[in-house]
Amino acid sequence: MSTKILPEQETTPQTSHGDGDHERFAHYADKHKITESMVTGTPIRALCGKIWVPSRDPKKYPVCPECKEIYEGLPLGGGDGDDKQ
Ligand SMILES: [Zn+2]
Repeated sequence: MSTKILPEQETTPQTSHGDGDHERFAHYADKHKITESMVTGTPIRALCGKIWVPSRDPKKYPVCPECKEIYEGLPLGGGDGDDKQ
């Protein structure tokens, strides 16, 4: 009958290459929030302030240096009697 003409769809892939780097690191964040985020897929705020979605396999990524620094500066973080000044 008539040829179907599909409307041109915007098929721009949702690649968030905005500032990219936060997706290549494993960030530190509240454990409960990470667990929740893995379930809901909702981005959370890492210690360094980046908004990211935790990976199911954080060992695939290097630890975010900023998060590590902040984490080690926390009272609860480096309590193994190790004086790194
Ligand atoms: Zn970070």
